[in-house]
Amino acid sequence: MSVRGELLQRFLDAASGGDHETLSLMLSQSRELLDERGEQGWTALMLTARNGHYEAARVLLTSGCDTRVTNRSGQTARDVAVFWGHTHIARLLTGTDTQEPDIHFNREILDRMSDRRSDGEWLASRRASPETVFLLFHALSPLVRSGAEREEQIELCKLRSTAVQELLTGSRTLEVFLGVEKQDDGQPAWFALSTEDDPSQLLQDKDPGSFFLQEAMPGLLRLSDDDAGVVAQARSVLAWHSRYRFCPTCGSDTKVEEAGYKRTCLRAGCRSLQGVHNTCYPRVDPVVIMLVLHPDGKQCMLGRKKIFPPGMFSCLAGFVEPGETLEAAVRREVQEESGVQVGSVQYLSSQAWPMPSCLMIGCHCVAVTTDIKVDQNEIEEARWFTRQQVMDALVKDKQAVFVMPPRQAIAHYLLKHWIGCNANL
Ligand code: ZN
Ligand code: MG
Repeated sequence: MSVRGELLQRFLDAASGGDHETLSLMLSQSRELLDERGEQGWTALMLTARNGHYEAARVLLTSGCDTRVTNRSGQTARDVAVFWGHTHIARLLTGTDTQEPDIHFNREILDRMSDRRSDGEWLASRRASPETVFLLFHALSPLVRSGAEREEQIELCKLRSTAVQELLTGSRTLEVFLGVEKQDDGQPAWFALSTEDDPSQLLQDKDPGSFFLQEAMPGLLRLSDDDAGVVAQARSVLAWHSRYRFCPTCGSDTKVEEAGYKRTCLRAGCRSLQGVHNTCYPRVDPVVIMLVLHPDGKQCMLGRKKIFPPGMFSCLAGFVEPGETLEAAVRREVQEESGVQVGSVQYLSSQAWPMPSCLMIGCHCVAVTTDIKVDQNEIEEARWFTRQQVMDALVKDKQAVFVMPPRQAIAHYLLKHWIGCNANL
């Protein structure tokens, strides 16, 4: 093999194995190999996409490699990533990337543009634009229709201003500005509208296919990742409005400001009007959710609540208390619910959970004791499961001894991450 051939092979091996340091080093000397195909007709970028090596793919991209190059089957690196289920890499390659794993409710297709929330003129012009998208909510349920592609999927009804005017004349509505689309040059703005009157009757005539989602859970899990991300934002803010209509400081009536992101007390002299107070802004409730690993490293603990579907076990979870760190909350919750003592805690990833406005903070933690003594008020049963048992449950094997939490839940990701599967869902 020629020297150049050997160099290329080293370069492609590094890509294939996710060795981003070697890639960086080789690229700092020469960029000649960047888009070179190996004997199989694959470039380094395709190999990182095939094997799910995010950091290595990022190194190649920032060195300026060409994402349009195809292999002998006519696939680009992005096609390869999509085929092998590495959606976070596919998104890196289309420039719609976030480094976090792709978890339901977490995708952000809108730029929130918080600096425009107090710009009344700009908001009015967006509101009047024929391009603008309105999402309709009633009693915190979004207006949806059955998905075009798959029967179990549902999609948000994206209404235009004329349709909204026809539907909502005379009814009391609350408006929340959600942001503008990140992707398009046209940048349509999106608003959520919550209506107090139930417009179902009117909708029957105008759009018989649409309906308000009956149950938030599991209904919201049937949305696409794009729609779910928007609903996470909209539903959480609307839920705050529905629960915090009156001033938490003095009980007086309030007015909505900042395009739906603030409620200001109407009573002159109220303490909440002096300085900045978190009671005036939408709240987020932090919840720790953790996979407890056995000291032997080969098992993990899962629990089940009575309300879970039959056979399902999931990660333990609980609200963070005031004056508590995430680590302390993890140790306390595990101890309370299972009697197991926890040592080290490692944060992995988080998930917005709009029921009504939680932030799920996903951790792995390592137990220092192993005897389980369940708090029956919180959970029905907790058990240690082996890696094999988790893998069986993940692939829904006939021998599986438990049912995994749904793929849209961060508990699913925490389990998958532990057994060394690809970090994306
Ligand atoms: Zn007040
Ligand atoms: Mg608890």
